Amino acid sequence: MADADRTPGFDTLAIHAGAKPDPTTGARATPIYQTASYVFDDVDHAASLFGLQAFGNIYTRIGNPTCAVLEERVAALEGGTAGLAVASGHAAQVIVMQTLLQPGDEFIASRKLYGGSINQFNHAFKSFGWNVVWADPDDISSFERAVTPKTKAIFVESIANPGGTVTDLEPIGAIARKAGVPFIVDNTLATPYLCKPIDFGADVVVHSLTKFLGGHGNSIGGIIIDAGTFNWSRDKKYPMLCEPRPEYAGIVLHETFGNFAFAIACRVLGLRDLGPALSPFNAFLISTGIETLPLRMQRHCDNALAVADFLSTHPAVAWVSYGGLAGDKYHGLAKKYVPKGCGAVMTVGLKGGYDAGVKLVSNVKLFSHLANIGDTKSLIIHPASTTHRQLSDEQKTKAGAGPDVVRLSIGIEDKADIIADLDQGLRA
Ligand SMILES: *Cc1c(COP(=O)(O)O)cnc(C)c1O
Repeated sequence: MADADRTPGFDTLAIHAGAKPDPTTGARATPIYQTASYVFDDVDHAASLFGLQAFGNIYTRIGNPTCAVLEERVAALEGGTAGLAVASGHAAQVIVMQTLLQPGDEFIASRKLYGGSINQFNHAFKSFGWNVVWADPDDISSFERAVTPKTKAIFVESIANPGGTVTDLEPIGAIARKAGVPFIVDNTLATPYLCKPIDFGADVVVHSLTKFLGGHGNSIGGIIIDAGTFNWSRDKKYPMLCEPRPEYAGIVLHETFGNFAFAIACRVLGLRDLGPALSPFNAFLISTGIETLPLRMQRHCDNALAVADFLSTHPAVAWVSYGGLAGDKYHGLAKKYVPKGCGAVMTVGLKGGYDAGVKLVSNVKLFSHLANIGDTKSLIIHPASTTHRQLSDEQKTKAGAGPDVVRLSIGIEDKADIIADLDQGLRA
């Protein structure tokens, strides 16, 4: 980056953002700072760190230099002001909501979400007194109708799991702005390579780093990105951000930290007190994965489109749900929000119903039958016999996991091999 005025491109940021050669050893790769704690220079230095008057490391539950590289990198890729890496995607969602909601408050969430998030919102969050109100992303006005004086946030996924569907972010963001609440977008399936939700009105972006950002199916992680766009002091609705903090000598986080106050609040209140810190080893693996994100995502998309094309005319297949397909219901939204491709994940309906789903997951050889997405390897699951088996048939169908449905996460192998494996599995 010789020219100081040049803004580095996305592919350059994926490799360099947040990282530099280690100043003490010259190590080119980011070291894994495998330490719980950090020595203070002197008593005054310790006092200023504990009082939030200086930035620095105290204890790895609150911050770690290897995790900091990951945080800066994803914040740069998303176009946010700051990030906070945590132990999992679910931990990111807990910390975001704990920073925004008091018991008895509400948040509005899209019905089309990762199944684990639907469970988390319906059960664990309810037990904390945070009440989810569901809205339908195919009927944008349902978000507007769901707003009440208790609403504190709106939550959607950009590309929604599991159906390969695309959410119309801009009008939902406008509803959040009108309601005076932050718009939170889970960008796990798209990644910032395909879509930058902040450009479409997101105030906070969350990720499961476990999926495409890490990219290799080897570590669990999550991240919160602060867009720096929300005015936390305007309506005094968010006490963690706009009221004096007794443990930090009465400072008001939004006054002191401005456009990265949300990321700071999540760290020095949420992560400090709830504790789901990311291990520096996982941060190292995930940052390394991100270096090849642009190459992998494009290959995921190109392979997935070829697979969706192949399956949509296969005699054993009733339907394919993938926004990348020209005839798909979500293709118009896909062209607007994810023009480079619609990601790796799709659902497929089999003419042979439940038994055909069980047979396909048993007969594939290259595909792995497991509960994950976003690996370099092609993955398959039959939700009705696994993740959704406890639901009634009607509930399964409502959740997009009817008896005939299989979910695919297309890897970056040779596409001819992926297609041949599905073909032999469907014919067997
Ligand atoms: C996997 C996933 C999560 C949860 O992340 P974990 O890292 O498994 O805790 C949240 N949202 C989406 C869209 C996911 O795919």
